[in-house]
Amino acid sequence: MTGAYWAEYAWLPEGAAAGVLIEVADGRITGVTAGVRAPAGATRLAGLTLPGLANAHSHAFHRGLRGRTQAGRGTFWTWREQMYALAATLTPDTYYALARAVYAEMALTGITCVGEFHYLHHAPGGTPYADPNAMGEALITAAADAGIRITLLDTCYLTGGFDRPLEGTQLRFGDTTADRWAGRVSALRPGEGHVRIGAALHSVRGVPREQLGPVAEWAAAHGAPLHVHLSEQPAENEACLATHGVTPTRLLADAGALGPRTTAVHATHLTPDDIALIGTTRTVTCACPTTERDLADGIGPIRALHEAGSPVSLGSDSHAVIDLFEEARAVELDERLRTRERGHWRAAELLRTAFAHDSLGWPDAGALRVGARADLVTLRTDTIRTAGFTPTTAAETAVFAAGAADVHSVVVDGRAIVADGHHTTVDAGRALTDTLRALA
Ligand SMILES: [Zn+2]
Repeated sequence: MTGAYWAEYAWLPEGAAAGVLIEVADGRITGVTAGVRAPAGATRLAGLTLPGLANAHSHAFHRGLRGRTQAGRGTFWTWREQMYALAATLTPDTYYALARAVYAEMALTGITCVGEFHYLHHAPGGTPYADPNAMGEALITAAADAGIRITLLDTCYLTGGFDRPLEGTQLRFGDTTADRWAGRVSALRPGEGHVRIGAALHSVRGVPREQLGPVAEWAAAHGAPLHVHLSEQPAENEACLATHGVTPTRLLADAGALGPRTTAVHATHLTPDDIALIGTTRTVTCACPTTERDLADGIGPIRALHEAGSPVSLGSDSHAVIDLFEEARAVELDERLRTRERGHWRAAELLRTAFAHDSLGWPDAGALRVGARADLVTLRTDTIRTAGFTPTTAAETAVFAAGAADVHSVVVDGRAIVADGHHTTVDAGRALTDTLRALA
């Protein structure tokens, strides 16, 4: 937890610097000195060292769908049937094993903190486990064992659609009412220092209008993050308009559910009024472009949301890909495809979206500065992708050339979790292979 690192190059708040000594004590950065030679005893980090990456939107078990749900034709809704089939099989033990492997995979890609949007709460049929939080506790333990921090975004999910009850596998997600959801969540033990508990509304189709407010109030009373899937599909907007006469964004605003502690995930199909509401309330937008393209969701107005006032974070969501460098560049490249113009985002701005920890309740992470959590992610700059690196274009290399495979060292809260490209405690490839084979 204590020591000194010497980075060949490091991404500091003011930009890239060479020869940076980063001193660490008790999991915090205690000194940052640029332009120095490596002192004896310091751990040398060759390449470009970045702050820790925050994966702001994850459903760990969706990793089991990678390479399987890409076959054939379909839509978001046919994909969802396959996702439910997998969800039907998981137990606290198998969920723990899968999540530990997935979080180890995340660590190997430079992710030091995950926001787990968790809705698979109960046994099949909706029967609570003896410990009603057995599934959430499995995720918390999995993150600890993989060496990353977790914000468990415990999700309220009450209905299968506007005026439709939960059915089938969905019964595992339900707590009947927002009050019962709050009672269960309040029993979660945050435990060690690697955990925050947050709230989530599955979506405006998953939580009835009169139950939105109580969940938002719980989050406000606890100073907790509040996340919500928003307008990922036009069908949600159409059903919301038909039922309530307003868009999902307006429905959330009227329920008091927007604001700086709230994250709108996807925010793909919005009206100009929706964009203004999200921006003026400083609601965070979480873009998940690799999932959105895999599920044929569409391209969200991420730049417009940002210009309206919304901070932007990134999530690998369904884990068709786990690579926040790819998510960051996709935010820009999708905009290019839509507008046929280049350069909507500066690379440094895109990098910042990958470091954005605020929406997960960790404002002290995501920057290489004194006092911050000692999360250090180092990219090799001599690989087939990153060769040609120059410090003046460090951000461009990280965003537009590098990928998860270029991460060779990861330190989380001062602990070395990845060294020489290998997880220090979990054989992630073996763990993924074994757990996914057992689920097949
Ligand atoms: Zn999601």
